[in-house]
Amino acid sequence: MQQVTTFARQAEFEKAKARLDALSLPYEVIVPQPGFARVGVPALVADTEARAAIMGAGVGAGADGSFCAGWVDYHPPRIAPPREPPPAFAEDLFGEAAIVVLAPCVADLTKIRLIAHTSGDMAQVFPYMNAEMREASYNAKGPTFSFMDQYRMISMYPQRIAIAKADDIVDGWRALEMIRCRVNDAWARRARIEPCDEMREKPPALEIFKRLPKTNCRACGERTCLAFAVRVQMGELPASKCTPVFQGEFGHLKDALLEICMGVGAAT
Ligand code: SF4
Repeated sequence: MQQVTTFARQAEFEKAKARLDALSLPYEVIVPQPGFARVGVPALVADTEARAAIMGAGVGAGADGSFCAGWVDYHPPRIAPPREPPPAFAEDLFGEAAIVVLAPCVADLTKIRLIAHTSGDMAQVFPYMNAEMREASYNAKGPTFSFMDQYRMISMYPQRIAIAKADDIVDGWRALEMIRCRVNDAWARRARIEPCDEMREKPPALEIFKRLPKTNCRACGERTCLAFAVRVQMGELPASKCTPVFQGEFGHLKDALLEICMGVGAAT
């Protein structure tokens, strides 16, 4: 079975590639350049033997010290990176993105989930994006900013982005580049936008919250059920951390909670 991985830095990709070359193991490379060069480094498509060579002990680190973001089943990308280089911005609040987690989507194993770190801090632009994207969900206290890109769920932190239900690695790069452009475009026009701190809770976090006990008991380690719902939605915690639902007196909520988590691609 062919699987694909990517790396946070170009140097790590080069190390993994050199290792496969030294062992004469086959692989394919998917490149983000030129259009997605600011948000990705090349991805490697490899079979079981080549993966083992990269993974070493199987904990994500290659024997030569390279780190990959994780492996997902390979499906040929549905789109190709644009042939033009990415647009430049006079002020770049986003910076560059490094994909640090690549994993299958819980609800749909043909889709992928990824987490990227950004070199820039995007928190300042959230109120401006919130003013223009009425369908988004903004929590100024986080701060977090979430919205849907068609069926993909995008959750933004100051220096982190989680994307669920991306089609493949190229679609993930496309989504990251779309965010980079939205962030920098809103920042460039900020003098003409009235910033908005309005907190609009929207599905799916709210839908997950509706199926929790709402006792704020803190057994999951979060201060409130709402905070837990947001972290589940973002793929940071599995729903099963809510022990009152999975092991306690709120067991009657379990099926509904599992159903909504599967529906939105959150870990159960
Ligand atoms: S364990 Fe469950 S009920 Fe308790 S705070 Fe967390 S989400 Fe709410």
